[in-house]
Amino acid sequence: MADPKDWFTEGLAHIWLPYAQMRTVPAPVAITRTDGSRLYLADGRELVDGVGSWWTSVHGYNRAELLDAARDQMARIPHIMLGGLAHEPVYRLASRLAQVTPGDLTRTFFTESGSVAVEVAMKIAIQYFRNTSGERRTKFVSFLGGYHGDTLATMSVCDPDEGMHHMFRGALQEQYVVALPEARDQIRALETLLASDKKIAGVLIEPMIQGAGGMRMHSPQVLKTLRRLCDQAGVLLIFDEIFTGFGRTGEMFAANRAGVTPDIMCLGKAITGGITPLAGTIASARVYSAFHSDNPDHALMHGPTYTGHAIACAVANAGLDLFADGSLLKRVKKLEASLTAALAPAKDLESVADVRVLGAVTAVEMAESFPLEAARKWFIDQGTFIRPLGRTVYLSPAYGIGEDDLARLTGAILKFASAGISEIG
Ligand SMILES: *Cc1c(COP(=O)(O)O)cnc(C)c1O
Repeated sequence: MADPKDWFTEGLAHIWLPYAQMRTVPAPVAITRTDGSRLYLADGRELVDGVGSWWTSVHGYNRAELLDAARDQMARIPHIMLGGLAHEPVYRLASRLAQVTPGDLTRTFFTESGSVAVEVAMKIAIQYFRNTSGERRTKFVSFLGGYHGDTLATMSVCDPDEGMHHMFRGALQEQYVVALPEARDQIRALETLLASDKKIAGVLIEPMIQGAGGMRMHSPQVLKTLRRLCDQAGVLLIFDEIFTGFGRTGEMFAANRAGVTPDIMCLGKAITGGITPLAGTIASARVYSAFHSDNPDHALMHGPTYTGHAIACAVANAGLDLFADGSLLKRVKKLEASLTAALAPAKDLESVADVRVLGAVTAVEMAESFPLEAARKWFIDQGTFIRPLGRTVYLSPAYGIGEDDLARLTGAILKFASAGISEIG
């Protein structure tokens, strides 16, 4: 393997890193190998990974079943386009997603990134009304604290502060980004909004957990309320399950955990266990039926070059195999209990404002803000890879993480909350 000093130092002069002021961003940690929940550094250290590479690596790194599926597919058909040609993995995956998702969600359109999956959901909603009632419904309602992607259309439905709306004013469509319908007046306000603006096509939410916004959790009642209000107003309910899907909440989807079926659901991240990019937008039979006609103008107008990438779909099928016997979801429920127990002491700390756990997610929200980069470095010094969001220190570990590794992660968080935060000042 090449000395990281070569590729890393040379490349650092040319790469443009995500969400980074390149002049001041601390140099990333060069990793030379991954395995399970571990990241191996060039200098011989190893870190327990609490993040799972932007929440994708739910089966741990280098999981043999997923790697074998990728290798097998690569040897046979790495990829062929879906226009006019068909390959097995994507057709199989579409059938299997129809089975594992709740209700009558039955028709999947594949893309390569979550942001695009959300954009496709928005296009489906807009075209749905064109194709049925002929209405020009083009606006969306989404929620404060929400995150749906970084492309122009998805930024417009993100939390205005976190989504940096001020930087892109004029480029973003105006949407309604409102409070979650938790209290009675919030429910009322949303009901009134949906009744008053006939331009609204859909309501978009990250069900159960708003991830990037700081692992904020809400009650399933919120989703039941949304289902009722959307039905009443005749608008579509869209669940963005790009973070919550594939077992993260302890059920296959957050929709299952809440007992609510949306009209459209967006999938991504963990769908391939982090091995390759893949995302999907799955629509209900009713929504799909608005596109299924003799009118060519009723077709869904979207078609990315790599839609239904064969290797990605083969890996996704192998990922679904890992869920098939139900033991993985049981494991997530166990993880939920372990995380709850391990972080219970944090509740009594004055420095801690809130401790939240749901499935394989935990968030410890600190009472005061702290220097993020210093905290991130502090966690690396503890042998962990933990990257707080705002005031929230969170974990989204691989479902099969070992007890010792989990203890190292939760121990580091407790230490940070009780003493570390003063060390990094
Ligand atoms: C990550 C994420 C996205 C965006 O997915 P990308 O693959 O990064 O484009 C959208 N919605 C949610 C809820 C996410 O967590």
